[in-house]
Amino acid sequence: MMRRTKVIATVGPACSTSDQITALANAGADVLRINCSHQSTQQISELIDRIRSAAPSVAILVDIQGPKHRYIGSEQMLHSGALITFALSDIGLSTTTDAREQGIEVGHRVLLNDGRLEVVIEKVGRDSIEVRVVQGGELKTGKGVNMPDTEVTDDLLTAKDRSDIAVARAKSVEAVALSFVQKPQDIEQVRELVGANVMVVAKIERPQALERISEICAVSDGVMAARGDLGVELPFEVVPAAQHKIARTALTQGVISICATEMLESMTTSTRPTRAEVADVTGAVRDGFDAVMLSGETAVGIDPPHAVEVMARICEAAEKEVVLPNLFADTNPLRAGVTASASALAKRMTADVLLSLTFTGHSALLLAACRPTAPIVAITPNEVVARQMRLVWGLYPITAERNSDLNQAISDALTEARKYRFIGPGNTVVICASRSNPRSNADTIWLHTER
Ligand code: PGA
Ligand code: MN
Repeated sequence: MMRRTKVIATVGPACSTSDQITALANAGADVLRINCSHQSTQQISELIDRIRSAAPSVAILVDIQGPKHRYIGSEQMLHSGALITFALSDIGLSTTTDAREQGIEVGHRVLLNDGRLEVVIEKVGRDSIEVRVVQGGELKTGKGVNMPDTEVTDDLLTAKDRSDIAVARAKSVEAVALSFVQKPQDIEQVRELVGANVMVVAKIERPQALERISEICAVSDGVMAARGDLGVELPFEVVPAAQHKIARTALTQGVISICATEMLESMTTSTRPTRAEVADVTGAVRDGFDAVMLSGETAVGIDPPHAVEVMARICEAAEKEVVLPNLFADTNPLRAGVTASASALAKRMTADVLLSLTFTGHSALLLAACRPTAPIVAITPNEVVARQMRLVWGLYPITAERNSDLNQAISDALTEARKYRFIGPGNTVVICASRSNPRSNADTIWLHTER
């Protein structure tokens, strides 16, 4: 059985030696995520090198921290109803710009201790705010600060973010993700810095981004339902609806989607997931996400490869009874014309494999966006493109040279697919490629039966 949903594992102290990285790949991790919040730029660079040599076929996702604010003032007890003053620097905000120019206004909420405490701004000074405590408690140093009502007007990227992006570009990683995106321009800014060959994923974790999900998908290669911060900035009970909307919008627009955070949380300390977690991963598969992500479960968990195996098992079981709608083709009849036909043909004939011949990965992506019932084996001469496909639902990449004669290229592709046992005697294969311009959308479909 070939799993369609991809598994992303976060690398951390529990799994960052070469042997541990190889073990994650062998357990089924398609993508390894580097969380820049917990690594220096130098460490990120070393980790990328180590992953490349220990697991050369997995994709690397570099997750840029962005404007994550933390409380760095002194610990104190906040009493509900009390009026207190915070220096902007205490809550991790810039002090070089006037508070009002940063978009901070009277009436905005400030959530402290990762959302457990709530205060409301009553007065905005130049470099401080006066707030009324709504939900009190012990305020701890180092915990996250969220301001769900504030559209931050400051620069989204810190100096470290810029260095981390430069390393990601220099090392040709497959993708970078950007935290706390608010608008399409944030993504355009990162794309400019990272270059044309790295996928850019927008982390949807602010209400401002959720409202603009369509515009953000239009300029991104992918979006992540970053449920940790999203569930702080929005009431947690609306997160399931939000994640469904994120997955469906991405699918409709033909970009990839990732479901993240607390998916198998209990496995950070336990050898088995809770039934609720199994249902959560199943729900993400039904939503139509391309990939599901592990964070603490692998980064600091007791058995990272086991968490990956469990995730993979749940996805496979869930996929058996899910058929996803072809929202992409319904919305983009021209772009999806040929790939949707190939996908429908494969379904009608119960073909065993769809074979995609692609240079840039573009036509393979169009095929995957149609969510066909058959797995897609994609042949590309480009190694980075092949690894990028490991982020995409249903795609199984093979790296191989492409003959300039198309008939020969198809015959070579079949040989490769045979070699890796993607196809065998009696199998029906639907082949999709482009005759007019090999670097564009697919334009031709072939049928093949293995003898
Ligand atoms: P983080 O993002 O792990 O970088 O905070 C994911 C989330 O907020 O869910
Ligand atoms: Mn986050």
